[in-house]
Amino acid sequence: MPTLVVQIAVPSPLRRSFDYLPPRGGEAAQLVPGCRVRVPFGRGQTVGVVLVVASQSRIAQTRLKRVLEVLDTEPLLPEELLSLLDWASAYYHHPIGEVVAAALPAALRQGRVPRARAVTAAPPATGLLTETPPTLHPPQAEAVQAVAAASGFQAFLLEGVTGSGKTEVYLRLIERVIAAGKQALVLVPEIALTPQLMERFTQRFSVPVALLHSGLSEGERLHAWRAARSGQAPIVIGTRSAVFTPLAHPGLIVVDEEHDLSFKQQDGFRYHARDVAIMRAQRAAVPVLLGSATPSLESLYNVRAGRYRHLLLPERAGRATAPRITVLDMRSTPAEGRVSRPLLVQMAATLKRSEQILVFLNRRGYAPTLICNACHWVATCERCDTRMVLSQRAQRLTCHHCGARRAADVVCPAPACGSTALYALGHGTERVEETLARHFPEAAVARMDRDTTRAKGALHALIEDVHAGRSQILVGTQMLAKGHHFPKVTLVGILDADQGLYGVDFRAPERMAQLIVQVMGRAGRGDASGEVVIQTHHPEHPLLHLLLARGYGAFAEAALAERAEASLPPYSALALLRAEAVDAHAPQAFLEAARAIAEEAGVAGVQLLGPVSAPMERRAGRTRAQLLLQAPRRATLHRLLERCLPHWEGLKLARRVRWSLDVDPMEMA
Ligand code: ADP
Ligand code: ZN
Ligand code: ZN
Repeated sequence: MPTLVVQIAVPSPLRRSFDYLPPRGGEAAQLVPGCRVRVPFGRGQTVGVVLVVASQSRIAQTRLKRVLEVLDTEPLLPEELLSLLDWASAYYHHPIGEVVAAALPAALRQGRVPRARAVTAAPPATGLLTETPPTLHPPQAEAVQAVAAASGFQAFLLEGVTGSGKTEVYLRLIERVIAAGKQALVLVPEIALTPQLMERFTQRFSVPVALLHSGLSEGERLHAWRAARSGQAPIVIGTRSAVFTPLAHPGLIVVDEEHDLSFKQQDGFRYHARDVAIMRAQRAAVPVLLGSATPSLESLYNVRAGRYRHLLLPERAGRATAPRITVLDMRSTPAEGRVSRPLLVQMAATLKRSEQILVFLNRRGYAPTLICNACHWVATCERCDTRMVLSQRAQRLTCHHCGARRAADVVCPAPACGSTALYALGHGTERVEETLARHFPEAAVARMDRDTTRAKGALHALIEDVHAGRSQILVGTQMLAKGHHFPKVTLVGILDADQGLYGVDFRAPERMAQLIVQVMGRAGRGDASGEVVIQTHHPEHPLLHLLLARGYGAFAEAALAERAEASLPPYSALALLRAEAVDAHAPQAFLEAARAIAEEAGVAGVQLLGPVSAPMERRAGRTRAQLLLQAPRRATLHRLLERCLPHWEGLKLARRVRWSLDVDPMEMA
């Protein structure tokens, strides 16, 4: 019998697995892929996961070390998941050890032994439903039919405005999945949304729901993870990383708000949970449903290419009707601070009817700039190429990029100036809150942004205040746009629709359009119909005009045409090689060398753009640069990356910078 060799994923930044010999004694039979093992590594020991048991090693037998101990009697990660992790490691060009680690709760990564074994969830004897669901509208019924009829893998895009009944479609499908003895995995973008969705699920179903997000304690996470893996929890709800949760009996994957940027991990293992969800569904041979009021251009493109089936919910469910939209040209409209007079008039009328108002501005703080009236000195961050944001209440300046903070200047520090005429330029949510509180002294104005929701429970309290009617006006950033259901809100003001229209990132218009539509969706979700007031300095901007006049679908079509014209994603594949260092020259030098390697790799059809300075060249004291790789065909790009990575890693210059590779980057900075 040939000696067996075990390939093991070990948490290490090296882009490969490691070979070991089976342990002494008779444990070899237990060496099944997906089991954890304790192995010697470097000078110590570590816990790894068995990937493959092979009959031959790439390394001479005599140099191989032995597995010390097998920790599991059955695979912790099922084959379907292992194969997904293997794919993700290859696709994102990220070390397999770190990818596998992302699928395990910390306690298990450290070698603790889980107790729960796989069980088949018995159908609940008390009846599955704990409430009577509404009768589906025909488009909802069609959507449910289509997904339920899928045998094996099929991808669906469920597009419907906020309040059109997408969640109800998920609930009906999940009902069928549970009745068939299977599990549903539901991915949501934000922790803030999980309690709300959780409530809808626990109201409807009598079965356990496992919740997985970054706000859990390690104990809670392990508990939920086990319930998912054993099959005890037929419903698993979670944020991004929950896409790697093992399921005993996968039956359906749902990705809610699929366009949301928080599905993309922006550091370390840079994966996109929506894209991983599609691959997972394929491996598990189950349908996957992506839902959104504002689908990503990628998903709409996949619909066109015939890869996803498009399901539409054209109208709002319940009694709510679409809101009325007013566009104000701010070049000719009088305003108080950032808030136009016509909006103030509408707000007064809304308050008089005892209804509530949302005011959206995607910029937190009091003012984005503190400037000297005498010499035009501006408060900038010492470590970043950016201005410090003024917080009036705290009399503090903060850098939103590196977190640096200091007391706001009262005397101009510019040499030979010393003026005390420093003033706040521009408007953030804190200032708008002040403007509105002054204008409507009888109304309670609240603010929802990262500054006011940092403390544990603060966001929940803000939401409760709106629900209970204790706040009449809620000012906020994009947090407002995320799925909160406020039935008494009938007026939504968008103070600056132009943010992002002229951004450096080619995705900026798509994001802005999604944000505008999502915020608009907060108006009139209850019985009363809603109104939306949109302030802009560029009502003639073609994409904005299209969005407001003809809706998101027309916008998306035009935006896709622009992407095609410019050969940008989804009409090409991108990878971004980033580098940063305290030494101002090292990033460019590293990327020049990386580029030279790519040029010599002998893969035609990949364009190398750069290296160039990052849009914000200095951040947190480091100089940043990037090299963009673009190819019409994804396979070509991957071939190039595969060839280049070992050489990039071997570069001497690589040790003088922090560098990373981002496949399908969602942010170009
Ligand atoms: P979305 O997820 O698209 O925002 P929801 O599923 O939350 O929409 O539905 C919006 C509101 O309409 C909810 O209060 C929901 O209970 C209700 N609703 C959904 N479908 C129906 C239906 N077929 N009949 C009556 N009410 C419905
Ligand atoms: Zn000055
Ligand atoms: Zn800074």
